[in-house]
Amino acid sequence: MAPVPTGSGYRRQLYRDDAVVLRVQKLGESDRIITLLTRHHGRLRAVARGVRRTMSRFGARLEPFGHVDLQLAGSPEGVGSSLHSVSQVEAVALYGKQFLTDYPRYTAASAIAETAERLTPVEREPSLRLFQLTLGALKALAAGEHAGGLVLDAYLLRAMATAGWAPAIAECAVCGTPGRHAAFSVPAGGAVCPDCRPPGSAHPAPATLALMSALTAGDWPVADASESPVRRECSGLVAAHLQWHMERALRSLPLVDRRETS
Ligand SMILES: [Zn+2]
Repeated sequence: MAPVPTGSGYRRQLYRDDAVVLRVQKLGESDRIITLLTRHHGRLRAVARGVRRTMSRFGARLEPFGHVDLQLAGSPEGVGSSLHSVSQVEAVALYGKQFLTDYPRYTAASAIAETAERLTPVEREPSLRLFQLTLGALKALAAGEHAGGLVLDAYLLRAMATAGWAPAIAECAVCGTPGRHAAFSVPAGGAVCPDCRPPGSAHPAPATLALMSALTAGDWPVADASESPVRRECSGLVAAHLQWHMERALRSLPLVDRRETS
């Protein structure tokens, strides 16, 4: 962990962390820029040099959606260059491989990675909870025990909670009156009571709000037993709520293929 002097006027340090690979971009012929959500250092971008030359042991580990253990070189405090470099990488679990032949799960993983990136607008701001949620969602998606669309919606609901704008489900979004209210208003912040209901509120099926509640709480027996129309309505409300709070729409969300085999 000793500082490594460099010629660029600041000190680069080697440090270790584990991370989820969110995105990989080409940089020239053989290098890649890897967007990582790390456990302890928040989101950061790092250069992986010579990935093509050493494809067998290095590049293959730095594919999207993988959980990797890294040694990085850079300034953890953010002094100097914003771009760190990857000096070592070990695979913990390469979930991306399992999505390559499964388009619905691939699109769900893409939406998870894009959401994680969008919810961390500032680099190197640690968010352990978001890291755990993102890793857990990719792991669950790879395990295939639950429908991919449900895993995605559970992730989006909990990720929104880390950002402080989860939809109200068990109380009125406006006045806080507890209970399961029938109307849902995205601009108002979720479920709304009859007194607070703004014009144009949706009236989802009671089972839809029950599913949203189960996904938020991680009540998988209830979520797994839900019917397709209920899942579709729930996804629509979750997506609308997410888009309302994000400046720009997610690119990957409309592409999510929700035809389920499980
Ligand atoms: Zn109210």
